[in-house]
Amino acid sequence: MDIHEYQAKEILAALGVPMPRGGLAYSPEQAGYRARELGGSAWVVKAQIHSGGRGEAGGVKLCRFEEEVRDYAGTLFGRSLVTKQTGAQGKQVYRVWVEGASDIAQELYLGFVLDRKSERIMIVASAHGGMEIEDLAETDPDSLRRMVIDPAVGLAEYQARELAFGLGLRGGQVAQMVNILRACYRAYRDLDATMVEINPLVVTGTGDLVALDAKMSFDTNALYRRPQIAELRDPSQEDPRESHAADAGLAYVGLDGDIGCIINGAGLAMATMDMIKLAGGEPANFLDIGGGASPERVAQAFRTVLSDGNVSVILVNIFAGINRCDWVAEGVVKAYRAEKLTLPVVVRLAGTNVEEGRRIIAESGLPLITADTLAEAADKAVAARLDRAS
Ligand code: GDP
Ligand code: MN
Repeated sequence: MDIHEYQAKEILAALGVPMPRGGLAYSPEQAGYRARELGGSAWVVKAQIHSGGRGEAGGVKLCRFEEEVRDYAGTLFGRSLVTKQTGAQGKQVYRVWVEGASDIAQELYLGFVLDRKSERIMIVASAHGGMEIEDLAETDPDSLRRMVIDPAVGLAEYQARELAFGLGLRGGQVAQMVNILRACYRAYRDLDATMVEINPLVVTGTGDLVALDAKMSFDTNALYRRPQIAELRDPSQEDPRESHAADAGLAYVGLDGDIGCIINGAGLAMATMDMIKLAGGEPANFLDIGGGASPERVAQAFRTVLSDGNVSVILVNIFAGINRCDWVAEGVVKAYRAEKLTLPVVVRLAGTNVEEGRRIIAESGLPLITADTLAEAADKAVAARLDRAS
């Protein structure tokens, strides 16, 4: 789960990371008021959306007058901001952060991520920050420094100092960097984060380190024990198709094609995506019904997949181990009738109780298209889609 920049800043500031003072606004007037309240002669107005790359997309602006703050905020509210990371539909701006402008001498990059290879938290840092880490890895890979943290020891002081020196920091900056690194590590470990990023971490004109941006993501599976983090969820920033499914306890991933997929298990989902593409089609989404799916759950899965207006064919692909094909078949028949479906549905069942499942499909009298293999199912889904289009 992602949170907003201002929320990440609040968490990190409480742990001692230095950053500019700022305030949140829900309207242009409030943004102007925030600027006056903060004082000073320049402010940075920042769209709060769950995405980086806002600067390039016109979502961050340095303003010199209170009216400028208000007017620029006015252009942001309610607007959909399209960044490199959002996809074409962009993300809606409902909150704006106003903070005192900083004098920037140098921009550094600092990130904490999970390194799956070493199964440890890893720090990634660069003396050349500002740009996104993906771009940095491409244009300036040699500037990237990586450091893995031993969970039994935690982030050792000498490690933090070594990293600070490696980034070219000197004098008092080293101690400042050590504090920042420790705070980020604590935030990451104690709050079940999956990512902490400060980009840019700047050296100001007076030589001090200040976090100008902050980003945090959290492990969804740990939210039950982090109620104060779970509260930060902002559904306005989520794909409505995905939040709807999450509320129903289903794992759903939205894609751009038109073949809706109901599958059990992530591995089978991947294989099904591949087969659809191989057959010349594009998946609209995939919904993992998991193990032990009841007919009601299957029916719920249908409703979720159908809530995507781009879907023109549904492909049900179940390899039942824990699941039972007869239950899935019952769910398909039930959903087909209840939703009064007119679009083609391809069903491929294999595994536990498959004969019973196929019998239920065959005897339902519904125009369900059946397939024995995954390849056949993918071909039939693509063909049904073309038939419909023509
Ligand atoms: P992002 O593009 O979504 O990552 O948003 P950032 O918060 O990183 O802001 C983008 C860029 O705006 C930064 O890399 C800075 O170059 C610039 N910026 C942000 N805050 C300030 C500031 O206080 N002063 C100045 N001069 N530039 C800033
Ligand atoms: Mn940034």
